[in-house]
Amino acid sequence: MTSVKPLHLVNSILPLHYDLQLELCPSKVNFKATEIIDFKPGTQGEGLLQRFELHSRDLVILSATLNDDIAVKVSYDKENQLALFNLDQPVDVLTMERIQLTLKYIGKIKTIKTREDETSGVFKTNFMNQETGLSDNFVVATHCQPSYARSIFPCVDEPSWKTTFQLSIKTLQKYEVVSNVGQLSSVADDNQDYKTVRFGVTPLMSTSVFGFVLGDLEHSTSQATMTHSSRRIPISVYSPMNIGDSIFCLDIVQKYLPLLEEYFKADYPLDKLDFVLLPFLTDMAMENFGMIFVQMNHLLLPPSMLADAKTREQVQQLVVHELVHQWMGNFISFESWEYLWFNEAFATWCACVLLEHTGDIPNYWTSSEYLQNQVENTMRTDAKIETLSISAISKKNTTSLTSQTHDFFDPHSYMKGIAILRSMQVCIGDELFRSALQEIFQEARFHAKPIKPIDIFVRMGVLLKSENIAHFFTSLCQTPGLPVVSVEIVKSESAITTRLTQHRLLTAKQKNLEDVPYHVPLLIQLPDGKIDQKNVLLTDRSTTLNYPIVVCNHDAQGFYRVSYESMECYDQINKEVALGKLSAIDLVKVFSDLSFFVEHSAKNIHMVGLYSLLKNLASNEMDLEKNKEYWAGLCEGLKILDLPKLKSLKYNCASSEILDFKAGILKPLANKINRMNFKNPDQYQLEVMSQLKTLKKN
Ligand SMILES: [Zn+2]
Repeated sequence: MTSVKPLHLVNSILPLHYDLQLELCPSKVNFKATEIIDFKPGTQGEGLLQRFELHSRDLVILSATLNDDIAVKVSYDKENQLALFNLDQPVDVLTMERIQLTLKYIGKIKTIKTREDETSGVFKTNFMNQETGLSDNFVVATHCQPSYARSIFPCVDEPSWKTTFQLSIKTLQKYEVVSNVGQLSSVADDNQDYKTVRFGVTPLMSTSVFGFVLGDLEHSTSQATMTHSSRRIPISVYSPMNIGDSIFCLDIVQKYLPLLEEYFKADYPLDKLDFVLLPFLTDMAMENFGMIFVQMNHLLLPPSMLADAKTREQVQQLVVHELVHQWMGNFISFESWEYLWFNEAFATWCACVLLEHTGDIPNYWTSSEYLQNQVENTMRTDAKIETLSISAISKKNTTSLTSQTHDFFDPHSYMKGIAILRSMQVCIGDELFRSALQEIFQEARFHAKPIKPIDIFVRMGVLLKSENIAHFFTSLCQTPGLPVVSVEIVKSESAITTRLTQHRLLTAKQKNLEDVPYHVPLLIQLPDGKIDQKNVLLTDRSTTLNYPIVVCNHDAQGFYRVSYESMECYDQINKEVALGKLSAIDLVKVFSDLSFFVEHSAKNIHMVGLYSLLKNLASNEMDLEKNKEYWAGLCEGLKILDLPKLKSLKYNCASSEILDFKAGILKPLANKINRMNFKNPDQYQLEVMSQLKTLKKN
């Protein structure tokens, strides 16, 4: 990997604004361009300018002039993708009224024919004209993320630098032309074959979300009525074909664009929003500012496919995720690709918060899709000694000059990031968390310059008067792995106390392990059903509460496991289950944590606890017809009995004489279920019945 010093630290002038005038015809392999860059003196404080550099890849610069009359010599450092600019005489930029570089150059149009071709810079795809049957329809589009803007125009192509842009494109009259902001004018040439489209000036943004598209595109258009800013924002979907099948996408934009503005209490930063569907697109979707590109097959959905609820949910998640980026990722942007995980995690977290709130994806955060498929798997990865912290992983994946976005996207950090954001939202409180975000969106320093994610949480901590917020975020990003909190309830004659102790959770014991305490959101449920407001966060190794608790990590919204290590804990949980007062999720979570301990680090108490929980569920006193919500937990618990590891543990257990799972649990449970009358058994009831059959055989 080549690492190069960022240009904003090398140059004594820095770009403020790019004016780009392109001439582009899809039948050609090159495009022609004029670029006018306005600069300001750089942060180095040097007045004299004789040489500077811009990122440039595969561009042939024909001429370069500073302030109309100073000739500039151009050479290239191809290895580092740079164009080098040299003046004969140094000029004092501090005394100049303007610093304006005019370039004339030629760039390449890449041809993309298959899914395997990586889309980057300016690329074209031809496709079939459905009327003539000839493959002479074209779409030309751009892909700048992470560092391909430099294949379109010489620039400072770094996420740490934001500028404004204005684009003009001359192309065939018949083509649709779309860019980040709306068109100012479209003027036909004298011979009527060509037209020149001029777009407005963009807000400050990074080069990676710049873009345009032109070609034989169909479109459908509507408006989003913004309640927060009292505006009507034009919204469109463009597609090379079958535009009628994209109507669901347009509906989602129409519904969620206003909701997001309302959520952040921050105006949508642009004058329009488009989705553009492309035949091929590396990374599936690209959130260009105001013009989101998505690979066609993800959003062209005939009614037969939309009949499937899961498909609809996936499309809603995708579209709203891309919309969130318009605020977080584009309007507020991050100074390094190191923070891609946070940008992506935030977009998904926020999309799911809204989708749950509207009821489009009900109970998302307590769904098995989220808790079992995502969080549980991420915790399992994190419990391996070789898994690094989020910040260590993202530093390792720094940009090489040939990186694509997926090269430094780490799915584990992304999933963990979503869980971190969710646990912070629950721990801080939905309303407070949101109001702090709203304040942050109002503050100019968060969008005038790229930021680091921690800046958000430091500011949130100041606004909400809690230093713990920033520490919490840092702890989860910089410390590898995840915690396990052990809970012991101790009864004495005079009092009941609960001792909580945390350690790093691992699949296997390690010598000389660095075991730094985490910031653990306790989310304690008390016997009266309320959530403990006194002890919210565990930051020390251990703490003792002078009262009993029912569970930690209520509804599994924190990213950690809980090990209940005294019989009183299980008695307490059983009592709540019998009363129907424990949440269904809590029971599932107790069993899924137990499952991990049985596989990796079981103590006697886990075996005894498991036995007592299942025995309670199997007993005749426990009415499973009335308390239907516990079948999911029962199912999770029975899964443990099928673990090969359990057999060896059972016989090592000190109190093995009482742990006869067959006689003590499976038999009474089967008898109880046989007496029940199932009209429409649900997924968990069916699964329990099949589990019982399998377990009886073993
Ligand atoms: Zn994204």
